[in-house]
Amino acid sequence: MYEGIIHKYRKYLPVTEKTPVISLNEGNTPLIRAGYLSSLMGRGFEVYLKFEGSNPTGSFKDRGMTMAISKAREEGSAAVMCASTGNTSASAAAYAACAGIKCIVLIPSGAIALGKLSQALIHGAVVLAVDGNFDAALELVREITARYPITLVNSLNPYRIEGQKSAAFEICDSLGASPDFQVMPVGNAGNITAYWKGYKEYRQAGIIKTLPRMLGFQAAGSAPIVLGRPVKNPKTIATAIRIGNPASWKQAEAAREESGGLIDMVSDREILDAYKLLAAKEGVFAEPASAASVAGLLKLKKSRYFSRQAGSNVGGIPSKTGKKPARIVCILTGHGLKDPDRAIKSVREPKIVKPDLKVILKEIGY
Ligand SMILES: *Cc1c(COP(=O)(O)O)cnc(C)c1O
Repeated sequence: MYEGIIHKYRKYLPVTEKTPVISLNEGNTPLIRAGYLSSLMGRGFEVYLKFEGSNPTGSFKDRGMTMAISKAREEGSAAVMCASTGNTSASAAAYAACAGIKCIVLIPSGAIALGKLSQALIHGAVVLAVDGNFDAALELVREITARYPITLVNSLNPYRIEGQKSAAFEICDSLGASPDFQVMPVGNAGNITAYWKGYKEYRQAGIIKTLPRMLGFQAAGSAPIVLGRPVKNPKTIATAIRIGNPASWKQAEAAREESGGLIDMVSDREILDAYKLLAAKEGVFAEPASAASVAGLLKLKKSRYFSRQAGSNVGGIPSKTGKKPARIVCILTGHGLKDPDRAIKSVREPKIVKPDLKVILKEIGY
């Protein structure tokens, strides 16, 4: 029986026999070959989607939370706290409930998707909507957890990063090697930090021989790393990456530099187009922030980034020499059902018809 990432990757994680494992069997998410995107990319490339929406609470945050809550429990903590654009609070609330620990959440008022809010509430967290943005909420959480015996479970908590790196292990285990490129959304930048750490550790252990180029994408209205300065009032429909001053900024830059990758931005228009394409062409429903990875992939294709990589020592490029295709993994960080309002707004609502056979046959073209 599969029992979650701590059991599976125990030897790479800071746990002992004394650590009580609080798990909802997170991880083991599908790596899906993306037929439509692969054909768009053309010969010499294969695109895969790491669908993190199939974690227990619907986002990758569960990988970090199983570690953070297990360690909080080991340390005898009675309460945990986080600031959240939604998914962290959903995950913290679920794992805290499972552990029997109190969970306190600060969310930016009016700026989180309804699915995520409903999760935090139904799992019994104390939820306070702060009249301010995520960065302000995180600052408050840092102050409170520094002063009171409450464990901070944002990605500043090093155990979060430790747990999240398991996704990189899974990708390598599935492919039997490192991918050549990894494309992902960047918000508070904990996840890009975690993946890069995971890949490096797997290479250190001799399981993979190469490392991927890390290609991170922020939303254009909240792209502090791309601009090189904090953004006071971050704006984007992709609420999970609406962050103006990322906590792991330096580590994200290190991942970019060390891997020979890049961190760029995509517009909300590009994000929504990728969001719809994923659902309609690949059959995968991811939330808008997740679609930033595919929006980034398409932007890089347009700018001929990948063909310019030919001749570099990356992976299997170029295909003309008969080498294996270069493998690109796009991380889909969260499930589309988190934000059904956005989905409905992005398409035409169903037409209302009479319950009449003739009318319906006419409508469907028969
Ligand atoms: C948290 C989150 C992100 C951003 O991850 P960071 O570690 O903050 O960069 C992206 N997408 C989704 C769905 C998230 O929940």
